[in-house]
Amino acid sequence: MITLLALALATIPTDTLRRGPAPSWQQRVAYDISARLEEPLGVLRGSERIQYVNNSPDTLRSFSLHLHLNAFRPGSRWSDADSTEGRRRFNDLKDPDYAFNHVSNVRIMGQPVMAVFPLAPDSTIVRFQLPAPLAPGDSMVIETDWDARVSTVARRQGRKGRQYDFAQWYPKVVVYDRYGWEEHALVPAGEFYGEFGTFRVQVDVPEDQVLGATGVPVCGDPGWTAANQSSSRPVQYGAEAYPAIRAQVRGPGPGVNGDCAFTNFPNPAIPSGYKRVLWYAESVHHFALSMSPEYRYEGGAYQNTLVHVLYRPGDEKSWGGGLAVKRTETALAWLDQLFGPFVWPQITNLHRIDGGGTEFPMVIMNGSASQGLIVHELGHNYTMGILANNEWREGWLDEGFTSFQTTWFGEATGERGGYEDNEAGVLDLDLGGWSEPVSLVSDKYSDFVIYNQMIYSKGELFLAQLRYVVGDSVMHEILQTYYQRWQLKHVDGAAFQAVAEEVSQMDLGTLFGQWLHGTPMFDYAVGRVRRQKIGDGWETRVEVVRKGDGMIPVDVMVIAAQDTAVVRTDGMATRAWVVVPTRSEPRIVLIDPGVRTHDWNMLNNRYRFVLIGKRAPPSQAYFDTWFTERVSRDRVERGYMPTIWYNSAGGITVGARARSNYLGMFEENQLLLSYSLGAPGDDAEVQQLDFFARFKNPVWLRAPNQSQRLEAFRTEGRWGGLLGWERTLKDHLAFGPTWTEGTSLRLVDIDNTAFLDRQQYIDVGIVELMTTLGVKTRSGKWQLGGNLALGGGLVFNRDGLAAVQPDLDQFYFRGEVEGTARRQVAKKLTFAGRLYGGVATGAHTAAKQRQIYLGSSDPFAQLYNPFLRSEGALLVIDDVPYQAPGGGGVRAADFRISGPALIAANVELERTLAFRQKSKLFSRVSVAAFGDAAQGMGGPDQPTTGEALGFVADAGLGVRASHKIGKTAFITRFDFPFYLSEPAYSRNDFATDDAFAFRWLFSVQAAF
Ligand SMILES: [Zn+2]
Repeated sequence: MITLLALALATIPTDTLRRGPAPSWQQRVAYDISARLEEPLGVLRGSERIQYVNNSPDTLRSFSLHLHLNAFRPGSRWSDADSTEGRRRFNDLKDPDYAFNHVSNVRIMGQPVMAVFPLAPDSTIVRFQLPAPLAPGDSMVIETDWDARVSTVARRQGRKGRQYDFAQWYPKVVVYDRYGWEEHALVPAGEFYGEFGTFRVQVDVPEDQVLGATGVPVCGDPGWTAANQSSSRPVQYGAEAYPAIRAQVRGPGPGVNGDCAFTNFPNPAIPSGYKRVLWYAESVHHFALSMSPEYRYEGGAYQNTLVHVLYRPGDEKSWGGGLAVKRTETALAWLDQLFGPFVWPQITNLHRIDGGGTEFPMVIMNGSASQGLIVHELGHNYTMGILANNEWREGWLDEGFTSFQTTWFGEATGERGGYEDNEAGVLDLDLGGWSEPVSLVSDKYSDFVIYNQMIYSKGELFLAQLRYVVGDSVMHEILQTYYQRWQLKHVDGAAFQAVAEEVSQMDLGTLFGQWLHGTPMFDYAVGRVRRQKIGDGWETRVEVVRKGDGMIPVDVMVIAAQDTAVVRTDGMATRAWVVVPTRSEPRIVLIDPGVRTHDWNMLNNRYRFVLIGKRAPPSQAYFDTWFTERVSRDRVERGYMPTIWYNSAGGITVGARARSNYLGMFEENQLLLSYSLGAPGDDAEVQQLDFFARFKNPVWLRAPNQSQRLEAFRTEGRWGGLLGWERTLKDHLAFGPTWTEGTSLRLVDIDNTAFLDRQQYIDVGIVELMTTLGVKTRSGKWQLGGNLALGGGLVFNRDGLAAVQPDLDQFYFRGEVEGTARRQVAKKLTFAGRLYGGVATGAHTAAKQRQIYLGSSDPFAQLYNPFLRSEGALLVIDDVPYQAPGGGGVRAADFRISGPALIAANVELERTLAFRQKSKLFSRVSVAAFGDAAQGMGGPDQPTTGEALGFVADAGLGVRASHKIGKTAFITRFDFPFYLSEPAYSRNDFATDDAFAFRWLFSVQAAF
């Protein structure tokens, strides 16, 4: 509904917008809450009286309350959403660990009413029929008793020991606005929307509790003075902020315990060992509360706003010593200059049980005291608390807004890369096809991760784009006007847009419409370019081509010999001419030089006045160390590295490799040139130049989650190529199965057998068409994987498709299927298993290079690896028993043994000995016990045994270590298969007749 509305607004003349379509009325509430904490049950028992004024033009017939704590228990919609998305938090909790909030004895207009739970079995919303209709302008009183408990698993709210974070804890009035009653279940996506009102809150708690809450303490001792860590700064309670409340309070005043009471308020006797604290707040839409006897107090102030900090033992260095106070003051100063003065008398920053942070009016509950977190959460006091949006409908208005101002704060204080990192992250989602409109009703997002990414990150990016379009000073003015006009009111995106258009004097309909309600892709390119000398200057005419559906003003820069000029065009037309004057001779034209338009393809944004390479994509060269590939936002990165390896026929082979990429996903091209010296070594005689070329994922073939590649090579006696296509299918970014499917056509012919291990290759050419299907998923504690490859090939030689050998067919079928399962079975102990089946056959056996291998991957899989693919290469010589995992995986077996078909099973039980998250080079060391078994089926006799491949099994122990160098993670694996049922199949180095013998092998890949 709102999507249509806002899109329609984009076409309404600006005059209408100026008046603002945002809500012109809001309901008015006043809460009187009385509550007592029963320790150690952790239950808060209370009663509540709500005065409600119907300012709407509608006659109300029902009334609804939020019971937020009922989300944090089994069976709630929150728990259901968690379960669906693979999180288990509250669904498994038992009494007394889960949270609740019950109402009883509810009276409206003095009449008992019955509770209805419209979202049952979820009970976070309760509804009542009014005993009589409530006409516009009329008011009513709602009274209820209730009890509330927070959960032992913390999420915003929570309890731990004697600390209680009562975040959303009391029956809270549901907002009635132009959409009706906003009866949203509390689910992970969406937090707040409340009616502004006054709160008189009376809490009875054990005497040693130290409290933090919305509002100011007006009578009784919150415990701050006794907990105060700063002798030089006595506690200021701030009750003077509300002078009128004094008349409604009986008792000794704030900071002193006594017989405190509000007028016209339930006033039960204070139990012994308890104290009573009265709080008062005005113009807030929520009242938060937290307490712990261990809280330490420190105070401060920024202008008229008091700062209270409550931290925990152990926080002395990270919160104490005035650190958190100072950071809170810094955040207030920043927000003050950005929006305007804080409207409330105090802000309490406390160390909650849960990590992260949550904002409440006058209270931020934080998991740490980092400056960024404080600026973010305190920023919410502006964008959410004071500028009160509906987080279910337009979450970007608080999360996107506060993320935006936090990044701006970082930028203003010298942090770099805030905008760039966020923009790149959003671009990844856009290119992956994951993005959904920024302004979507929160529970309509496909999952919690996308919801988060859209309302925080892309919401932030939208506001950054607005800042780019209107400029810094106008953006400032927009924020101040928005704040001034809409403070302490309900706001929405349309209200913000109206302010932005009024202040900037710009029609921002397209910008708001596209960014908030669509998922456009932006791509501007340099079209035709002309330059001419005019008088004593130059004029460059540039055609700006819009290739994407996204439209945003775009800068066109001309870099001339001695000067530079920039002209901005509105970016709306598919082709538009821009004239850029310079004083000296133009050299380079750049579109969007600051990378501010979210242009996904920056490779077509440059034109150079040169003879050749006018439109060559901007690129940068670097020395490639293999482990880390550089990625840039606005240019192709090209890494160059020298290569060297050895094999028997070519001897030492030297070469150079160039690889490139754009955004880490496009133009992933590679060229490797190598030259074999034909020496040293007795068999080394071939001197030749080889090449390998790959073209992968060109920008012009962009399709979300698809990959294309073309390869051609002539390498070590083989030549051929590959044409491949693959795509990834996923319903959700963070959970659920990931499917991959692909097709490839491959040619591998032989032109020099000197390089080949004749036990791996016969002298024929192969053309093979293969389709693959893969899946990875989690099921409970299991990580499951499956792969299927099906295809077939043609065998040929110089005479064509003739049967090249008497026992070899022209056609063969090849199929492999593999399933893996992995799970943690105990702390530090992991089980992993694999089942495998492979067949490669025609009427006779397939060529040796396409057979199914007993112990490792097949020869074609090793084509890319210079240490494996040719005879005498480093990792295939006898002294270096290396295993390239694959095939039947019987790791003790020689890598040359193969057959037409086999089935196999592999198991590993791995125990972690050491785990060091921070260490990169050795992050994990583990030991493993393993066993492999395979049964060969049919086929020719093996040269080593003179028999067909039968049953083979091995078992042994191994050690593994995990490493990371640069961006490359890998493991080293040493396995000792002391048992091998067919010792004749062992590698030459371990030739023996005994099943039990010392054997070893290593690998830089996991066994499976
Ligand atoms: Zn936030």
